Amino acid sequence: PQLSTDTLLALDRAHVWHPYGPMPGTVTPYVVESASGVRLRLAAPAAGGHRELVDGMSSWWAAIHGYGHPVLDEAVREQLGRMSHVMFGGLTHEPAVRLAATLVEITPEPLRHVFLADSGSVAVEVAMKMCLQYWQSVGRPEKRRLLTWRGGYHGDTFHPMSVCDPQGGMHHLWGGVLPHQLFAAEPPAGFDAPLDDEYVRAFEELMERHADELAAVIVEPVVQGAGGMRFHSPGYLRMLRELCDRHGVLLVFDEIATGFGRSGALFAADHAGVSPDVMCLGKSLTGGYLTMAATLCTAEVADGISRGEMPVLAHGPTFMGNPLAAAVANASIELLLGQDWATEVKRIEAGLLTGLADTAALPGVKDVRVLGAIGVVQLDHPVDMVAATEAAAREGVWLRPFRDLIYTMPPFVTGDEDVARIAAAVTAAAVAG
Ligand code: PLP
Repeated sequence: PQLSTDTLLALDRAHVWHPYGPMPGTVTPYVVESASGVRLRLAAPAAGGHRELVDGMSSWWAAIHGYGHPVLDEAVREQLGRMSHVMFGGLTHEPAVRLAATLVEITPEPLRHVFLADSGSVAVEVAMKMCLQYWQSVGRPEKRRLLTWRGGYHGDTFHPMSVCDPQGGMHHLWGGVLPHQLFAAEPPAGFDAPLDDEYVRAFEELMERHADELAAVIVEPVVQGAGGMRFHSPGYLRMLRELCDRHGVLLVFDEIATGFGRSGALFAADHAGVSPDVMCLGKSLTGGYLTMAATLCTAEVADGISRGEMPVLAHGPTFMGNPLAAAVANASIELLLGQDWATEVKRIEAGLLTGLADTAALPGVKDVRVLGAIGVVQLDHPVDMVAATEAAAREGVWLRPFRDLIYTMPPFVTGDEDVARIAAAVTAAAVAG
């Protein structure tokens, strides 16, 4: 490193925007020097004197194999020896083609075509464009609104923001600019909860009333992530499939957070045995190594677009299909599927359930929920982010609480002792926050 930690932090504070951060900066981030396995190595000790923190966040759902994995490192190195990037217009290459073919093979059956985007938000933009362009192309241009349920999060660019939770999102900042979408109530909470007939009826009514103007329904299947870390029954996905079929509306699953095993199924859609018309993937697609996302669609959607007056999908980012990202995505998927990942996720689920068993009884705790390799403690008040983060660091764990939530989604390679440590840190953060 060329900069002293103090200089680095002063420059960071003066110049660098962080996610949802003020400018100049007002909190002091930890400086990460390196990362290996499930540990982040810091430039200076965190609260409690720890120089290394166990990563309870997988870098926001992404680093499922941890950091510096030899297989993934080698995949990048090998690809770097060939080429780091070439444009994707008029050119193609093996890493991207192999990735697309693999994604078609492992995702639900009718998904057949793949658009490689460069971030999750862009993958959602592309999904929305696909849906709107489809209806335009098949002679139903009036079908251009989206329906979602509240509590969702789909990214920070404009169209995805329009389907984020209106309260938790930033709709109040963008009144008049965001497209006006349709919101249903969020589905009743609980992965194992029985279907609520009244909810189903109300949703059905809403769709009946608006089907003529609806291009698509878009939801995060089974797990709502950054909009509130809620779980719901796969039965609601079957409800959506049935209603979308009945009313001629496309169904989009945003699996950017849930894809690749996180919820205990390879894709959350698999819990329900339901296939969407369009699916978005991202985050752990590359094992968290490089930025890449994907939007998959059925042959029907692609054929519809091909029939339009503009028979191409109108999107083409500069870094589309980046070979380094595609190569590491291929290696990450092979690594995941080559092991008994479901058992590893179950092991983490069991560890989190045990470690958080007594947390629900603590004062200020409203709910504790665990699904797959995801653990959530919801408080009955907004969390003090600094106090909660420091309390976790004192336990030797990196967590990033927000709103009223302290949550973890550790790498799948996290050992039992570290899972227990993460659960203890979540609990300590809940007490302090
Ligand atoms: N969709 C979901 C479900 C997400 O969880 C996220 C990111 O948190 C996004 C979309 C946006 O992805 P990105 O941050 O890569 O743009």
